Amino acid sequence: MRLLSRRMMGVIQITSKIKLFVLASIFVFTYSKHEEYAGWKSYYINTSTVEQVKKLNAIRTKLGLDFLSPAHVKREALVLAKPEQQEEFKNNLDHLGIKYRIHVDDIKSALDHDDEKKKNRTKAIARDSGDKMSYDDYQHLETIDAYMEYIAKEYPKTTTLVTAAQTFEGLPIRYMQISTTNFKDNSKPVIFIEGGMHAREWISPPTVTWVIKKLTEDVTEPDLLNYFDWILMPIANPDGYNFTFFGRRLWRKNRSMNFPNDNFCPGVDGNRNFNIAWNTVGTEEDPCSGIYAGNGPFSEIETQVVRNIIMEHISRIALYLSMHSFGSLILHPWSHNLTLSYNYDNLAKVGHAIANAFFEHGPDIFPPFIVGSTSELLYLCSGSSTDYGHHIGVPLAYTIELPGIAPNDDYTGFDMDPQYIKAVCESTWAGIVVGARKAKVLFRKGT
Ligand SMILES: [Zn+2]
Repeated sequence: MRLLSRRMMGVIQITSKIKLFVLASIFVFTYSKHEEYAGWKSYYINTSTVEQVKKLNAIRTKLGLDFLSPAHVKREALVLAKPEQQEEFKNNLDHLGIKYRIHVDDIKSALDHDDEKKKNRTKAIARDSGDKMSYDDYQHLETIDAYMEYIAKEYPKTTTLVTAAQTFEGLPIRYMQISTTNFKDNSKPVIFIEGGMHAREWISPPTVTWVIKKLTEDVTEPDLLNYFDWILMPIANPDGYNFTFFGRRLWRKNRSMNFPNDNFCPGVDGNRNFNIAWNTVGTEEDPCSGIYAGNGPFSEIETQVVRNIIMEHISRIALYLSMHSFGSLILHPWSHNLTLSYNYDNLAKVGHAIANAFFEHGPDIFPPFIVGSTSELLYLCSGSSTDYGHHIGVPLAYTIELPGIAPNDDYTGFDMDPQYIKAVCESTWAGIVVGARKAKVLFRKGT
């Protein structure tokens, strides 16, 4: 009892800390109004050949452009351009004969529009804290935290809420363990799903909280609850995620500082910080870049926590999913070079099965998923979590680029219309169910 009380005290302290932080952040947010995005535009880029994809990626590196969705021959890229980049960017595209069109002509106004539509969000935080989780809108850190506390309290036999570490800004990094045998049966395979490593990818965390719901409040696949032990981390990067709600909407990295080496530019790209060919390709050494790899492999607490989970359960992790957005892509190793993975056939087979389930259960507005290794489909990049996990022995590891802004959506804001959040979560769960069942068969075979 005493232990429980102390633990509860810890939870209360952490929750209060988050509340204070959120309140302080709301104050900053209220007076910032996306001014930093004045003059920014976003462009759809139509690359119809492999050659054009390569050329666009070269322009990306040359101009330091920020891609919200990657280039592919069958998928338009979505690229952010600051005012000072736009002229040269368009000149380069015209010169190379690459077609483009405006997605949002005035990002500041589009973000203001989104805020206007979501102005009841603060009320929603209060309403949702505790026993309800809304999928009508994007979920705050505080909402997700309160939901996990509620689940841990309501389902103590199968769930454990773990606070693994504190971030640079002092927020807890938390995840849920869900198990019918309290993680004590070492013969059971583990499924590990994390989201929110890239702060601005707001559709990612709800797909993970939805899995928590499907394994506790609304169990429709009891076989999966019984057969696997689950580790579910909705927000791997709490500092960055919070900052996108109350600071800069389009922030991607965490918020750590390494004074004076970082030139006052905070943040490391968690998905470039893992120790797999670290900082060799598709990264930047400039701390101000959105794809800064950090000052060493695993320099960041967020990547250390993910690494430690993988290491702790490495002998029994059957499936690892890292949730990102967007692009409707299922990406498997390798991303750091063009060689084929030791488990390529299974990765491809299971990836296609997941993709089919996503598409079958998803709303028509999004395109079908494309499946392949990151390096063959998109570009080379080192230090990714899925490459690391696969490298040290996770047989099935995927980066899921969830559906995002639909190309022909008439929503006039910047984000994916919140009306699709629930449908994306439902279809993602359908994909996870298929993936888990395939992983089960392969795990039994020992492959
Ligand atoms: Zn991402």
